[in-house]
Formats: sequence, C-alpha cells, structure tokens
Amino acid sequence: MRGWEKYVRKVEPYVPGEQPKGNRLIKLNTNENPYPPSPKVMAALQTMEADALRKYPDPASGGLKEALARYYGLETNQVFVGVGSDDVLGMAFLTFFNADKPILFPDVTYSFYPVWAGLFRIPYVCPPLDAGFGLHKEDYFRENGGIIFPNPNAPTGIALALEEIEEIVRRNKDVVVIVDEAYIDFGGQSALALAKRYENLLVVQTFSKSRSMAGVRIGYAMGSPALIEALENVRYSYNSYTMNLPSQILGVEAVRDQAYFAESVGKIVTTREETKGWLREMGFSFPDSQANFIFASHEKVDAAKLFNALKQEEIYVRYFKQPRLENFLRITIGTDEEMNQLREFLERYTLSDAVRPRPAGT
Ligand code: PMP
Repeated sequence: MRGWEKYVRKVEPYVPGEQPKGNRLIKLNTNENPYPPSPKVMAALQTMEADALRKYPDPASGGLKEALARYYGLETNQVFVGVGSDDVLGMAFLTFFNADKPILFPDVTYSFYPVWAGLFRIPYVCPPLDAGFGLHKEDYFRENGGIIFPNPNAPTGIALALEEIEEIVRRNKDVVVIVDEAYIDFGGQSALALAKRYENLLVVQTFSKSRSMAGVRIGYAMGSPALIEALENVRYSYNSYTMNLPSQILGVEAVRDQAYFAESVGKIVTTREETKGWLREMGFSFPDSQANFIFASHEKVDAAKLFNALKQEEIYVRYFKQPRLENFLRITIGTDEEMNQLREFLERYTLSDAVRPRPAGT
C-alpha cells in the first residue's frame, strides 16, 4: 500500500441507474419524465446568448429563487437552489446532521441516504418499514440526530399522510427533519404548508421528474430563513457558483409555465392509474404508488429474470439486488405508447414457460 492511500477517504459510492444509448429503446429505469420540457424552456434554450456561457453565473441564483418563491408563496430567503436535489440533499446532510446521535431514515428508501451518511461520517439507524412497506411514525419518536425520508417514498411510491409527517416534525423539534419530495407533484400532500410553520422542517423538491429537466440538474429546498441561511453558508464555503447560468435561465421559464406542467403531470398520473389496472390483471402486485413509477412483483415471476428479459427487448426498468427488494421491479411511467409495448411484452412473458412454476401445494 502506498503511503498516501491510508489518507484517502474510503467511500461506498451511489450507483446511478443505467443511461443506455439507442433510439429504439424504452427507458423506464430512472424515473425521468417521458415528455419534453415546456416549449418555453426549449425556446429560451434556442435563444440563449453567448454571455450566459461567457460570464460567471449569479452566485445567489436570484432569478430562479424569485420565480420559485413567487410560485410557492414564500420569501426568497426561504428558498435554496442546487444542482439537482442530490446536490441539495448532500448539502443538507453536511449542514444539519452533525450530532453524535444517529440520524434516522427507513430501511427501504432512496439508496443515496446511506452513501451521504458514509461520506460525511454521520451515524445512522434505519427503522424497518412494515411488510407492506408502510412507514410508522412511532419509529421516529426516539432520540436521534436528524430525520430524512422521501414522500412519496422511493422505490415504493407510498405517500405518508400530512398529519403523520406533522407529528414526526412536532416531536423532533430539536433536530432537522427533511422531507424529500422528489415525486410529490404526482400525488401525496406536500409538507410545504408545514415548513411555513415549523422552523426545523426542510422540504426538498426537483425539476428532474415533474418538470422534465433531469439533464439540467435543478433541485431546491424550502424552509425557514434560519435553515436556508445555514445551507447557504455551507454552500458558499464549498462552491459559490453552484448553478450554471443556462440552468438558472431555463429553470425560471419552467416555473412560469404552470399550464404545461399541470398537463404533463396529469398525463403521467392518468397513465399510471391505467398501468396499475392492467398490471393487476396480469397478476402483479404493488404498493399503491403516488409517484411516477410502480414497484411491482409477481408471485410466479422471478424479477431478476424478467429484468434481463426486458433488457433483451430494449425495455429498461430498475432492479435493486437488495434484501426485501429482490423480487420487485421499479417501472417508471412512460408515454402511453411505451407502456403499451411494455404491456404486450409482459402479457407474452407471464404466459410463457419463463415464469417460475408455482411451488407445490400453493
Ligand atoms: N430523491 C429521490 C427520492 C430520488 O429518487 C431522486 C432521483 N434519483 C432524487 C432525490 C435526486 O434527483 P435529482 O438529483 O435529479 O433532483
């Protein structure tokens, strides 16, 4: 071992979903929006001036913060923006989770949480979800150094009622509670109303899913001015020009086009509910997702085999080789046409010999 190696920070990195190349493929593996961003965003992109690249960006992302603050009925000092919600969440871990006590997040959740905890040396405990992947608020009524969970949860899609979130926040006033609302625009109730009342609650959202801008990388957090100021202080101590100027400009356009946003989200929700119907008819079971994906399993189908069979057909979904999850596939909601192709394949597959025979006597 070379001398310097012992000083290298040892981390277990997050593994992002695949980004396969090809025109024909159907990509239902990373919860992207199947529809393009607002035409206003595309128009701004086409007319972007060279200065947007030549100059340093506004380090405060003032225009984007203002657009978001106006949209959500907040002051700009209640909004923080970052390069995707991953950036915002990472910054929030670094800023708020500095107790010696462990932070809490569910055992089945966004797999980046343990990675940030590892990177920043934050101790953590993962209260297990119940057999149906339900989160019990009582598991969070214990001493801790902070709390984070997505709502709706990932990869299950299950939304927690606002009253339950409020009780978790109310009983944990000595620590920061982060609600990761990456999927909230597709269902469930946002905790933003609570963030206006509880100083210790941070709500994090993203442009990656409901606003079709995963490639632009915009995430944001909303909370009390005290929390936002703490986040800003850490951000300015790390990288003051976090968000590039083109992203700031495109983000403002996206927030302004409320009608397009509502239409695109509405289409995905309709397709999701239709997909639930035919998946159920085929014998799949899944939690009642409020997000833009469905976490499905089938008692006669081996999920890993199905994952590979789908891949052969150039249909990409997400498989997590993890305890409790190995018999599920997370399927992002695509366009109706993409979902029809998936449906045709699954119909053939579930009737074929490839499916696992039912164990004797069941
Ligand atoms: N939170 C959750 C629960 C997610 O599933 C994702 C998507 N991987 C993110 C945050 C991060 O998304 P982004 O960085 O694109 O905003």
